[in-house]
Amino acid sequence: MARIVQKYGGTSVATPELIKAAAARIVGLKEQGHEMIVVVSAMGKTTDQLMKMAYEVSPHPRERELDMLLSVGERISMSLLAMAIYDLGYEAISFTGSQSGIITDTRHTRAKIKDVKAFRIEEALQQGKIVIVAGFQGVSEEKEITTLGRGGSDITALALATYLQADECEILKDVDGVFTADPNVVADARKIPYITYDEMLELSNLGMKALHPAAVEFARQHNIRVHIRSSFHQKPGTIMGGKLQIEGRPVRGITCNTDCAKVIVSAAAEENTLAANVFERLGKAEVRVRLATQNRIAGERVEVAFAVNLADLDIVTPVLQALTHELHQGAYSIQNDVAIVSIVGAEMSSQYGVAGRMFAAISNAGIPLDLISSSHITISCIIPKANAGQAVRVLHEAFGLDY
Ligand code: ASP
Ligand code: MG
Repeated sequence: MARIVQKYGGTSVATPELIKAAAARIVGLKEQGHEMIVVVSAMGKTTDQLMKMAYEVSPHPRERELDMLLSVGERISMSLLAMAIYDLGYEAISFTGSQSGIITDTRHTRAKIKDVKAFRIEEALQQGKIVIVAGFQGVSEEKEITTLGRGGSDITALALATYLQADECEILKDVDGVFTADPNVVADARKIPYITYDEMLELSNLGMKALHPAAVEFARQHNIRVHIRSSFHQKPGTIMGGKLQIEGRPVRGITCNTDCAKVIVSAAAEENTLAANVFERLGKAEVRVRLATQNRIAGERVEVAFAVNLADLDIVTPVLQALTHELHQGAYSIQNDVAIVSIVGAEMSSQYGVAGRMFAAISNAGIPLDLISSSHITISCIIPKANAGQAVRVLHEAFGLDY
């Protein structure tokens, strides 16, 4: 008997029929004797619709009330799923995030899980019940309902797997697993059979929509093996784990983020603390910065360049306005027709010439290269947004990922 946490994404529970199909799959595992904890997302596009409704009522909805509203989506799917399971002859009980004991910090719409006091879940499991948990939500230390940020049901699943010491965690989706690149962009993208936490973390942080980065972080810290697979059939998907399985390929996956902007801040050369100033202030404003570089033309100007998420521009712009005002000859510019394309692979750290191959492939396709950055398992660069798809395709071919 294993203790299994399963998470069903929104598309996998989008209709009453799909909810019944999920119920049958869950019951199948229960019949094999497993303890089942099931995390659900909201049905289909429910969260988007709720969000839209909020903005139809109010241009700046209060975040506390937004959380109240958005948390409803998952309550619909959890209760329907419990009903469907009940009809198959099994005891099921649904819990909200708060009833599940998922304790978060107080930051509405982007709360972080701080603890899981899963007494009720444990009790229900002991009574032989299948437990259904509403994803994406919790209760704050101030007893307010919070949500974990878009796509946050993955985090709920991995947090529960961690605190309940599950033997297995399955993330069930409408796709077959994690792919070498977005299949909508690269026709012969391939399912990756095995990926390390580090690779998955890089890919999801850099734009791949396979698993929420905070969920990957939970899995990595607690060494939980995760199976990312389709809810529509039983074929194996992608296993994420801690040990690198050598395949002899430098690149495991390619991703491209088009929701970003390039920022340049410059000042007179005597501004020696420009980089510290810029990044300290953006850090305080909780802005995530990527591909940071500094360039100094002796005796003339000093310049820092970096990329930020488009969604953060509302925060970034006033920070830069204030800062450049204080600097000697301070200036800034923001360019939002850019994309970051990244190659990720744990095996690249032991190979030479990977960067050269990447940049040659991009240049040979006539795509202009801008900021470049690399770490031991990732190389990223900024290119024009218009070339994003083309860049991913040429890299996929250049690194032989279409085998
Ligand atoms: N329903 C939420 C969203 O759409 C959470 C999730 O799907 O994981 O963002
Ligand atoms: Mg959803």
